[in-house]
Parts: sequence; C-alpha cells; structure tokens
Amino acid sequence: MRIGHGYDAHRLKEGRPCILCGILIPSPVGPDGHSDADVPAHALIDAVFGALCLPDIGAHFPDSDSAYKDADSMELLRLAGEEMRKNGYEIENADITLIAQRPKLAPYIGRMKIRLEEVLEASPGSVNVKATTEEGMGFTGSGEGIAAHAVVLLREV
Ligand code: MG
Repeated sequence: MRIGHGYDAHRLKEGRPCILCGILIPSPVGPDGHSDADVPAHALIDAVFGALCLPDIGAHFPDSDSAYKDADSMELLRLAGEEMRKNGYEIENADITLIAQRPKLAPYIGRMKIRLEEVLEASPGSVNVKATTEEGMGFTGSGEGIAAHAVVLLREV
C-alpha cells in the first residue's frame, strides 16, 4: 500500500466555466487557470503522484506548455492513472474534500464520484467526494477562491 496527499486552490472568476471533478456546474463564477482549473481533480492527481513518489502535477503537465492550455483535467487524471498502473498500482480508495463558499455542490457530489471512478478505472464505491464551507472565513469564505484536499491509498497489483 502507498498513501498520497494533494492540495490545490484556484481563484474564482466571473464567466469562467465551473468544472469540478469533471462535472460542469451551473455557476456565474468558475475557477480561473491555464487548464480548465478543475481544483479537486488537480488535488487528486497530485495525491496519486505523491503516493508514487513522483514529481507533482506541475512537473508532469507544465502550465508553460501550450499543450495544456484549457486542458481537460479528466484527461490529465486519466494519464495519472495510466502512470499509476505502469508503476504496478491501482486505487484502493480516495477521499476528496472540496472547500467552497459557493456554488452549492451537494446536488453534484454523486456524479462527481462516479466520474472520478470511471476516469481512474477504480472500483465503484472507492472514490469519495465531500464538500464544506469555511463559514465565511478566509479566501474560500469570501468567495475569492476554491480549494480541495485529496488523499489516496494505492494497492500493489
Ligand atoms: Mg490547479
């Protein structure tokens, strides 16, 4: 078994699409970034690379590379999963916490889990997604940004 942790945060911007865990969420604001800025997906990718003791998401998919402009983070997650299997591991389980004051995420959590499991080729029920606010405190509380933590446990195949 190997454990990994990932963290990511992005600024929220008017008019940006709000894509979280590969699900498009109706919202007047979305995370800003070079790629689609799917914050929880980036945290999960870093958790997978972390568990494998590999360099981080920025080293694998540099934002200085135009190939990753507006990149679909589900494609990046798929590539991270490929790297994981190449190294002889699969997902035992993963747990993600999204931290956002807005938009309201509860209605989308179920679809997020299924999407991440599909992309990672993980067993049904092995990926969990939770959301919390920080009760108006800090950059997530003010709505300036959105953040996510992810932990993952990999099992040797
Ligand atoms: Mg990011």
